[in-house]
Amino acid sequence: MSAPVLEIDGLTAGYDHAAVVRDLDLEVVDGAIVALLGANGAGKTTTLRAVSGLVRPMQGAIRFQGQDLARVQPSARAKLGIAHVPENRGLFFGLTVAEHFRLGYRGERLDPAVAYRYFPALEPLRDRRCGLLSGGEQQMLAVGRALARHPRLLLLDELSLGLAPVIVESLLPVVRRYAEESGCGVVLVEQHIELALTIADRGCVLSHGEIVLRGEAEQLRANHELLISSYFGEHADLFTEQSS
Ligand code: ATP
Repeated sequence: MSAPVLEIDGLTAGYDHAAVVRDLDLEVVDGAIVALLGANGAGKTTTLRAVSGLVRPMQGAIRFQGQDLARVQPSARAKLGIAHVPENRGLFFGLTVAEHFRLGYRGERLDPAVAYRYFPALEPLRDRRCGLLSGGEQQMLAVGRALARHPRLLLLDELSLGLAPVIVESLLPVVRRYAEESGCGVVLVEQHIELALTIADRGCVLSHGEIVLRGEAEQLRANHELLISSYFGEHADLFTEQSS
């Protein structure tokens, strides 16, 4: 059995003392992809932000490779090997593709070769400004930049946002391949349920800040109605297990 790269125990987090995620447990082992699903406002982004340190938990513990992250700053978490691709992609429109790989945290060197290996379409665009790239190319750059850090844990927030389904269908399998080849754990927040569960090992559905359904991706895909009802907050015990 693989070691957990991420363990979240009883996480409660939110904004201005109001919890939007409550008592959440989640585990990701090396090389595994966990899809975090749920309707708008369910708390998916907040969960990712708590892991990368952008939101301070009100309660609970988050461990990365066994290390408690409570006192670890976001930049130090990035250096430990946690890479977060936010919903807005975190790119700089005035900079070229190649320049994005020169922007590391202090003392950090990014490895563009990894990005170009997984996204070969990016290499001929290395001198193009990000603002001139298509949405799909920008998303490749955002993910490629995360891969260039050699992450052990990848947090991906709605890669599909604003992209044509055909682009997303080509992007997500790259994430699968990277996880398999590198042993990196992945938390994938995604609105395209089917697609996410096609590449994920496990899935969980958040509703109003609580996990209401979790299980093997294949089982979840086979129970579409259960999946949909969980979006509306119906708890389902069928696949509820301790870890995901
Ligand atoms: P979406 O798919 O729409 O991005 P989500 O599941 O990622 O949704 P979150 O972005 O985590 O959900 O938001 C959960 C709740 O927290 C929402 O009600 C949202 O309005 C609220 N929220 C998010 N960011 C902030 C913030 N900076 N300040 C206050 N409330 C916030």
